[in-house]
Amino acid sequence: MFYLVEEFFSIQGEGKYMGVPSYFLRTGGCNLNCPGFNTKYFINSKEKRGCDTFFAVDSAFKNRWQKINDAKAFITHLEAKLNELGFLPHFVITGGEPLLYFNDETFYQIITFLLEKNIKITIETNATIVIDFKKYPQYKELVFALSIKLSNSLEPKSKRINKEAIATIAKNAKEAFFKFPLSKELIQISALAEIKEITALAPNLPIYCMPVGESKKALWQNDKAVFEFCKKHNFYYSDRLHIRVFDTTQGV
Ligand code: SF4
Repeated sequence: MFYLVEEFFSIQGEGKYMGVPSYFLRTGGCNLNCPGFNTKYFINSKEKRGCDTFFAVDSAFKNRWQKINDAKAFITHLEAKLNELGFLPHFVITGGEPLLYFNDETFYQIITFLLEKNIKITIETNATIVIDFKKYPQYKELVFALSIKLSNSLEPKSKRINKEAIATIAKNAKEAFFKFPLSKELIQISALAEIKEITALAPNLPIYCMPVGESKKALWQNDKAVFEFCKKHNFYYSDRLHIRVFDTTQGV
């Protein structure tokens, strides 16, 4: 069983496949919380802080998540969605942290179904969970967007960097890339040293940097600094198209 927060067809807004029409499955739950990303939200009138997908992270929202425990039924549902579209889009499995479910039978059956249809799948992950590629070999066929959290997430380093998880993905997956959300403050303080330390664990993977922020306004505060940072250090710049176009609207 896994939790599904939302599903929708849109355009991938960030990373290597920015701009590609994509079908999104957003799973519920995360092993991190990332209060440093500072998105404000309220639970029973009490203010809390988290990342821009707090609604897929905080279990206070669990009553809005759908339990997916019947792979066959969900595959039938996806087949109907694909028929409606009339083509096979790129799939993005995001969260929360989708790899919480890597060894869930239902989740794995759905991945297998999509791969059998020759659908490209990107998993967006914080790369803190070690995948057993031997037991679950289909994961070798996925694209992994490694969004490893930096100190601005305010998560302890021991929790946000798992060397074995990163190295295992880099060794086994057919494709992976790093993706770092940066603020101008972090660029001034420690971004380069932090990125170098993490990317040394998988030196052949491309590195994308993008502005942090949950709204257009927040992106504007950081985008120029990230742009210049990428030019200076030969990293790839990624925008966040969905926020740039739709601002804070979710599920578009
Ligand atoms: S790892 Fe990602 S989804 Fe989880 S809390 Fe941090 S930013 Fe949000």
